[in-house]
Amino acid sequence: MRAAILSVGDELVLGEALDTNSQWIAHELLDRGVDTVEHRTVGDDRAAIAHCAVVLAAQVDLLFITGGLGPTQDDLTREALGDVMNPGEPLHDLAPRSAQLIANTHGTAPGLRTRLGGCEIASLPGPPREMRPMFGLVIDEMLAKQSSNTDLGTASINACGIGESHAAGLIEPLMRRQANPHVGTTVSGAIVRARVRARGESALAALPSLLTMIESAWEPWAFGRGEVTLPLALGSLLRARGESFATAESCTAGSCGALATEVAGSSAWFKGGIIAYSNEVKQSCLGVTKEILAQHGAVSAQVATAMACGVAERLGTAWGVSITGIAGPAGGTATKPVGTVFIGVHGSSQRVRHIRIRGDRELVRQKSALLALQSLRLELIGRGATPLQGEVGIP
Ligand code: AMP
Ligand code: MG
Repeated sequence: MRAAILSVGDELVLGEALDTNSQWIAHELLDRGVDTVEHRTVGDDRAAIAHCAVVLAAQVDLLFITGGLGPTQDDLTREALGDVMNPGEPLHDLAPRSAQLIANTHGTAPGLRTRLGGCEIASLPGPPREMRPMFGLVIDEMLAKQSSNTDLGTASINACGIGESHAAGLIEPLMRRQANPHVGTTVSGAIVRARVRARGESALAALPSLLTMIESAWEPWAFGRGEVTLPLALGSLLRARGESFATAESCTAGSCGALATEVAGSSAWFKGGIIAYSNEVKQSCLGVTKEILAQHGAVSAQVATAMACGVAERLGTAWGVSITGIAGPAGGTATKPVGTVFIGVHGSSQRVRHIRIRGDRELVRQKSALLALQSLRLELIGRGATPLQGEVGIP
């Protein structure tokens, strides 16, 4: 199934506002196995909106229009759709005669649903906080109306700590462009995903074994399917063992603990954490010695080890996980450039990883937190020796 997205607004074409709606909708559609084949953006111009709606509707099964639905003079999407659907007729109660209103649960301007030729059309409000819930209200019905969707299946496999090209290389024979089931990869920070789409009875029958093949190719970096997050996967492993962990975080300042506590019920396996940003706190709250800090520096394998050990002892957990690194943009040196991160794991097995993460401050911190969770997960499944993306030998 093919979709197009038409964004409407002078502010978008003039560069005053960024069109985030198209990105969000395309992503949602991808999750549902729908190919978005075109994005278009037009200003608040009635004829241009009408023209684009006609052109796009002739090419795709689903058309999403966002913006231009408000009450002001320059909001012309309703009128433009009226020109297309019922030319010459006035709008009935805000809608062209052959369109239905969609209630706006998060704002005032209602949306519109209609069909032009073989294309299902939804016209949604511009503000993302109104558009997103309304998309949720209409998408299932729109997919159901396009009958070719009845035998479509989608699934995904999630992995962490492996680069996208490495991951794609491992499943290359499964990734032919026109194949059905179709396999593609996406990356978001430290998470790599394989998305699989199967169309038709025989492809659907092949889906389960294909997923198993991807999972074994991505072993042990793959941690779950679909909506399973890394903290969720880690939590179920810890829960099954009746163990818990605690975090000692320097450069991530709590984001690793925040990830763990995204999972409801995480108190069963996550006890807490110490944000040890300064050397003083590393000493007073984690027992890292002055000598180790002086000799190796705060960003070092030795300090990461002492932090992980210290937090497990002080918080009384089976496992301690530590992160110390240089998130940048300042603070890098020739031997420890920005992006240098040490992750320590202390428990029934011990490990310290020296990782070099490319990216800005935010990305370095985000990836560090996930890689730390993945490090613990790998220890739990007995695969602690597995290298993570960007890992360099411990000097
Ligand atoms: P409208 O429905 O045209 O009145 O849009 C109202 C507001 O929604 C605009 O001022 C923008 O701030 C926002 N908006 C409109 N279109 C988009 C878009 N494609 N992406 C993100 N925000 C948008
Ligand atoms: Mg507008």
